[in-house]
Amino acid sequence: MKKIFKKSDGFYDTFFRKPGDDKQSTTYCSGCGHGIVHKLVAEALVDLDMLDKTTFISPVGCSVFAYYYFKCGNIEAAHGRAPAVATGIKRALPESYVVSYQGDGDLAAIGTAEIIHAANRGENITVIFVNNAVYGMTGGQMAPTTLIDQKTTTTPRGRSRENEGMPIKVAELIATLPAPVYVERTSLHDISHIMKTRLAIRKALRFQKEGKGFTLIEVLSQCPTNWKVKPDQAGEWIKKHMLPYYDLGVFRDTSREAEQRTGGPMNRKASDHLKPGKLMEKIGIKSESESLHSSFSEKMTIDHELKIRIAGFGGQGVLYLGQILCQLALKNEYRATWFPAYGPAMRGGTANCSVVLSNREIASPIFSMSDILVAMNQPSFDKFSPFVSPDGYLFCNSSIISVEPDYEAELRDRRIKLVSIEATSLAEEAGFSFSSNIVILGKILKTLPYFHKEDVFSLIKRKFRNKEKLIQFNVKAFTLGFEA
Ligand code: SF4
Repeated sequence: MKKIFKKSDGFYDTFFRKPGDDKQSTTYCSGCGHGIVHKLVAEALVDLDMLDKTTFISPVGCSVFAYYYFKCGNIEAAHGRAPAVATGIKRALPESYVVSYQGDGDLAAIGTAEIIHAANRGENITVIFVNNAVYGMTGGQMAPTTLIDQKTTTTPRGRSRENEGMPIKVAELIATLPAPVYVERTSLHDISHIMKTRLAIRKALRFQKEGKGFTLIEVLSQCPTNWKVKPDQAGEWIKKHMLPYYDLGVFRDTSREAEQRTGGPMNRKASDHLKPGKLMEKIGIKSESESLHSSFSEKMTIDHELKIRIAGFGGQGVLYLGQILCQLALKNEYRATWFPAYGPAMRGGTANCSVVLSNREIASPIFSMSDILVAMNQPSFDKFSPFVSPDGYLFCNSSIISVEPDYEAELRDRRIKLVSIEATSLAEEAGFSFSSNIVILGKILKTLPYFHKEDVFSLIKRKFRNKEKLIQFNVKAFTLGFEA
């Protein structure tokens, strides 16, 4: 018998990631619109020859397991964060394609900030926004797109304008921003509209492929389960309840102007992106050839990911110390990530940052075990010293940290080198009590000469330009740490 319909090549033949014996069917309820939208996206990715270079971002919601189905790169995002994840992927791999797929609870409630800012930045990604006017996966609670008088588990008497406000029209909202290139709302309520949705999705993906910029397709989609209607009545439900409020059509199309645009994030190519040299230029650091360090003594090289955790009180320059290390790394043609974590208070609260330096691309800015810990106060020492790798270094501000002899023995057993320095006292001696971070930097570079001290001095001069006294204090602080 001739096979007329078949699964798109954009899907796995067998959903091998799906638990259980059934590796063929999706997790969606019968009559759900997600399956239709998935099919349209999968077919478009194949037809536009984009599949192999696409990362599909699964959101939190009913489509949380979309990665079971799409035969391309897949990643799961935290609730509402798909556009932020999409931004990261696109900027790291600007010649790849990214589909950020989200439902209404995910995009229009929990992730409002992410979608607005990704759209406003004009990220060259495609967002497929599935609007079924309800939180599906969690059992039918009111979503921002729930209609007036619509009954949900959290609005049992129906949504009211006075109590819950009006349903949010996402397509119109995004279309008011200056950067998006293409914004359209479509519907799945009958075949002709499914075909229009098909065209819209193709258009959006094609624009992304052509580097034109941000595109968003809002699709009015069925959720018979939470609307409490039969699957074959769900199209009618859209027509009766959703279409009177949600107009269909194109709300923004600046694709022609986008064609003429050059430069900017939308057309950024991998060749001019994320190269350490370019990055150095951008942040105003001299290029390698201009760097001073060639005339100075030998230094250690970083030939793996060097994971450094710096922790202390807010106000001790914890985060700035991490930034300096990153700037030194960039200046020396390494790659660097800096990941801060703030306590609730700026001064006196806790702060820490994770820094990764590497001679190759860095897989993640987050780690559990560090190669180096810089502990600037006792709580940080107590909290993070168990997470230093064997053969690692623990720099500790011994002005305010005491280490019990038993614990010193334990550190030795774990092959961790404890390097103590009276950072607070030496900073005071340098004339600037806030420079204990720079004292410790001196000690680090004396112990582990990854970078030349002259590079540190030029960074200090740039940071405190026109503040001669601060330059002197910090150079002295570094020197005291270096010589201690
Ligand atoms: S709850 Fe609704 S949106 Fe979720 S899978 Fe079922 S029909 Fe689809």
